[in-house]
Amino acid sequence: MESLAELHTHLGGSVSSDILWTLAHEQGIALPVKDYWDFDRLVTVSDPRGVPDLDALDAIYHWTELIQSSPIAVEQSVHGAIGGAYRSQGITTLELRFNPMKRNRGGERDVDHIILAAIRGLDRASLEYPQVRAGLILMMDRTFTPELNAIIVEKAIRWAPRGIVGVDIAGPRPRHERYDYRQVAPMVEEARGAGLGVTIHVGEEGGDMGRAEIGEVIEELRPDRIGHGILAAGDPELMHALREAGIVLEICPTSNLLTKALPDEDAVRETFRTFVDHGVRFTIATDGPEMMRTHLRDELDLLLRIGALTQEEIEEANARGHDASFIDGRRIAA
Ligand SMILES: [Zn+2]
Repeated sequence: MESLAELHTHLGGSVSSDILWTLAHEQGIALPVKDYWDFDRLVTVSDPRGVPDLDALDAIYHWTELIQSSPIAVEQSVHGAIGGAYRSQGITTLELRFNPMKRNRGGERDVDHIILAAIRGLDRASLEYPQVRAGLILMMDRTFTPELNAIIVEKAIRWAPRGIVGVDIAGPRPRHERYDYRQVAPMVEEARGAGLGVTIHVGEEGGDMGRAEIGEVIEELRPDRIGHGILAAGDPELMHALREAGIVLEICPTSNLLTKALPDEDAVRETFRTFVDHGVRFTIATDGPEMMRTHLRDELDLLLRIGALTQEEIEEANARGHDASFIDGRRIAA
C-alpha cells in the first residue's frame, strides 16, 4: 500500500512540537514552561495512559490554537503538516481541519487573513509536494452561537475556489445535555448547496445522548461523513441508517483510546468488527498525529495487530479514504 489517505486530522494536532516551539518564540508568546521537552509534553498527549477526558484534550488544544493564532503561524502550520504527512507517512490525500475563529485572538485578527494564510500554506505545500492532494475543512464550534457558525460557513463558501473543501463542527459538547445539531442545519444546507463536503463530529462520547445525537445528525444534517461515530456500534438501527445514507465514518483508534472514548483494544476490535459485519463504511485517521503521538501507519499496524481488521480490509478503508475525500469535487453523493 503505497499512498495513504487521511481525512480526519485537526491542524491544532498536526504540527510537530519543534515547529510550534519556534512559532511560539517568533511571536513572543508567554509560555508556562522554559524547556523544550516540557513544552513537548504541554502540547501533546504525553502520558501513554491518555487524558482523563475530552476537557483535558481541550486544554492541550488551548496552547496549539493560541500559538497558531496569527497569519504567519497558520501558514507555517498548514505547510508543515502537509509536508510532514507526505514525508513521514506517504500520505497523498490529506484533509486538514481547523476553526479560523479559534485562531484570531478573540477577534483581534481578521478571520479572512487567517483563512488566506492557511491557503498560502496549502499553495506552498502543493508546489513542494505536487504528489499530494490536500484540502482544508473549516470547523464550526458547538460552543459558538449560530450567528458565529454561520459566518464560518459563509467564509468556507467564499474561499472554496481556493482550497476550502468542506465544513465540520467540533468543540466541547454541553455538559449533561444533548447538543442541538438542528441549529446548524441551515448552515450545513448552504455549504452543501455550494458544493462543499459536510462532515460532522458526533458520537465520540456521551453514551445514550451521544447515540441520540448520531440519529439526529443523520436525519437532519445528512452529512457525507461523520467524525468518529463509534457509539453507533452498539445500535443496529443507527448502523442501518448510516449504511442507507452511505455515510463514511472517520475513525481514530488511538485518539479514542487516549481520550477513554473506548476503554481498551478489545473495545476497538469489537467496534471495527461490528461495523464490518453491518456494512458500515469507514476510513482510518489519527485526529492529529503530533498531538496524539501516533501516525497513520501506526494506526493501521495497531488494527492489524489486535485483529480489528485484516490487511485487505485496511487497504479497502484506505482506498475509501481517497474516494470519500472532498478534494477535487470527489465528494461521495449522500
Ligand atoms: Zn476530531
